[in-house]
Amino acid sequence: MQMSCAVHSAQELSDTGRGEDAMFTTYTIDEKQIAQHLTQLGEIGRTADGGVHRMALSEEDRQAQELVSRWMEEAGMDVRRDHFGNLIGRKEGSNPNASLVMVGSHIDSVPNGGRFDGTIGVIGGIAAIRALHEAQITLSHPVEVVAFCDEEGPRFLGGLFGSRGMVGKIQPEELQRKDQEGITRYEALQAFGLEPNRMNESVRKKGDIGLYLEMHIEQGPYLEEMGKPVGIVTDIAGPVWLCVRVIGEAGHAGTVPMNMRQDPMVGAAEMIQAIERICRMDPMAPTVGTVGRVTVKPGGGNVIPKYVEFTADIRDTDVKRRDRVISQIKTFIEEVCQKRKLQCEIDIVMEAQPVECASHVIETMTKLSHKLSLDAPHMVSGAGHDAMLLADIADMGMIFVRCREGISHSPKEWADTEDIANGTRLLAETLLHYAK
Ligand SMILES: [Zn+2]
Repeated sequence: MQMSCAVHSAQELSDTGRGEDAMFTTYTIDEKQIAQHLTQLGEIGRTADGGVHRMALSEEDRQAQELVSRWMEEAGMDVRRDHFGNLIGRKEGSNPNASLVMVGSHIDSVPNGGRFDGTIGVIGGIAAIRALHEAQITLSHPVEVVAFCDEEGPRFLGGLFGSRGMVGKIQPEELQRKDQEGITRYEALQAFGLEPNRMNESVRKKGDIGLYLEMHIEQGPYLEEMGKPVGIVTDIAGPVWLCVRVIGEAGHAGTVPMNMRQDPMVGAAEMIQAIERICRMDPMAPTVGTVGRVTVKPGGGNVIPKYVEFTADIRDTDVKRRDRVISQIKTFIEEVCQKRKLQCEIDIVMEAQPVECASHVIETMTKLSHKLSLDAPHMVSGAGHDAMLLADIADMGMIFVRCREGISHSPKEWADTEDIANGTRLLAETLLHYAK
């Protein structure tokens, strides 16, 4: 895709007066190279239907890290890997006392995923640094671009591994978790050339990182609906995972009369319907609820089940509202159990707090997006990202890039290069604002 007039260089903006008080520094984001890098990275682990299968700590992941580290070097960065398998490119600033500015995302994928999830943040980060490097713009702050290890997490059933590690949130027992071939994470890290027993050396503390920025595809439909290429994230929703077990009385499908049954399956069906209804009660709220897995025992076509277990993933940006929704769901489940003479257990198997992006970063990005004529709307992230972990120890900001039909984790995932380049311009301007 050519640089079109929709994409103004910083100089053009000042020339036309649209930059107003802004004195943009001149540099060029290489749109063609972004497209090339996306294609090249997409070749590693490419599936027959054009998707990507690049599981963390696999041979494909190793090749991808090698390729990305070459790009980091070309952009003027020193490259290393920490003990969590995070690939880190670093460019020193002119002021040795200035705080670190970090840009990151991930290059692993879900099984048969897409080419854009995670990768645009890493490629965009490198493109931004490269553009500044080639324009001989010196930053006073040191900058690091990070490709976090195992953000997706399906192999060892635990995502956000590299970012959790970086902020000191990995439990040692996690390293013993096995993949489907019986390989533990510890062994996989070793085979990747890492020393997992030295992980503590790679943990960063509060104050080590001043600012963390991440660009990611939206994975939702809103930017496309609004006709905007780029959005600014204000909050990342926090999920709660419930496991609901409903126990009834098994019986013969042909002989137990309908009025004598204690069928946990129909009870669960009522509960699942209620989860949808309760999560939709406030049409203005970003609350979402999903039942993604149901297990029925004994599971015979002619047997009234004895036991039904289902998961429920409830997310919101407001903890109070989310907890209120969960308590309404619990109350309804208890009522159903009473009415149908069922027993029930509800466990919270995972709980993450919603995270707010730093207000000064939102404000800065908003101003810069106007200056770049992007007018990026504010939005909420329903999906989790490495950024939510980094927010534990640093100020954090996130940029979303429009993706086709909101589809992600699929070979159909798509984002236009022009949109990614616009997101990269906003990223570069934000970097300049904070690191110059
Ligand atoms: Zn991602």
